[in-house]
Amino acid sequence: MPNQTAKITVLPGDYIGPEIMNAGLAVLKAVSEGTFDYQIDEQPFGGAGIDQTGDPLPQRTLASAKASDAVLLAAIGGPKWDNAPKRPEKGLLQIRQELNLFANIRPTAISRAMQKYSPIKQLAPVDFVIVRELTSGIYFGRPREIDAHHAIDTMRYTTNEIRRVAQVAFEMAEKRHHHVTLVDKANVLATSNLWRKVVAEVAADYPTVAYDTSYVDATAMKIISAPEQFDVILTENMFGDILSDESAEITGSLGTIPSMSRGTSGPALYEPIHGSAPDIAGKGIANPLSMINSVAMMLRHSFNRPDLADIIAGSVDAVIETGSVTPDLGGQATTDQVTAAIINHIHERR
Ligand code: ATP
Ligand code: MG
Repeated sequence: MPNQTAKITVLPGDYIGPEIMNAGLAVLKAVSEGTFDYQIDEQPFGGAGIDQTGDPLPQRTLASAKASDAVLLAAIGGPKWDNAPKRPEKGLLQIRQELNLFANIRPTAISRAMQKYSPIKQLAPVDFVIVRELTSGIYFGRPREIDAHHAIDTMRYTTNEIRRVAQVAFEMAEKRHHHVTLVDKANVLATSNLWRKVVAEVAADYPTVAYDTSYVDATAMKIISAPEQFDVILTENMFGDILSDESAEITGSLGTIPSMSRGTSGPALYEPIHGSAPDIAGKGIANPLSMINSVAMMLRHSFNRPDLADIIAGSVDAVIETGSVTPDLGGQATTDQVTAAIINHIHERR
């Protein structure tokens, strides 16, 4: 998006949400100075949306998101709205639907600086992403029934639903290490056989990307035993749900991991994978790295600025290396101290 002001809708949300959003925006400002032109439209969402308008996804918030080039979200929800007539999380489902965000992308990266936090001992750096289909499969399939003696869930996929998310995965691989692994259970499931057929067709359109397949049970083991072998893991909704939580665990830290949700066109949404952490809100100790890494992911994928994303990533690693980290990583630094240290590194690198 050269020579054009990038429009970013900012949704700080609830509890630690605004604290880490401030950190993310401060880093965005520092890295962008003089080279990336953007404007921010901050809107209420989640619990904050309910408090201000009665609705977790207020009309004006949705309008702003739809008119944006990217949406940055911190975290929503928490005990304050436990008994609210509408749940904050409802807003998330709605905005995903409205923006047609059918692909959820979660990176698992264990850089040298992060290795000491990982519960697995890795010699090679780990750097893969899971591209998870987000709006179909067994979580949405009908019929869904339960009575005293039986219950039914339905896993259902169409070729279109598979093709569009497969294309996201292959495009991602072209920007990364040129390798897609389709994860399924094709020895048992009919849906998995349809995935194999459609994804093989899509793979033929991306000749520079190596393509292979792996059963989900074997993949669950390999994520622990040999995670360095993966680049892009493509999978359906439920398998992706489970494997992405497993993958988060091997980094040793919820507080550092960003995510992206996107459709075929229109704005993508970037957010930390963790919740609003009500237990530590207001204490100034929330780990801002998940939000800062979300900003980097946005610059890389929505604004084609891998140079700026790399400056952020390098600065984050450098600060982790110094041990200036928040209590969730065993340190004593505050949110603001970590953020300030990262901004110092950014200034040195630019
Ligand atoms: P969700 O809201 O997604 O259902 P949850 O409520 O179970 O998740 P989180 O809000 O993600 O959980 O928090 C889980 C634990 O991790 C809490 O103890 C929280 O304080 C901690 N945590 C989450 N994010 C961070 C962060 N950025 N920095 C420090 N600690 C965090
Ligand atoms: Mg929560």
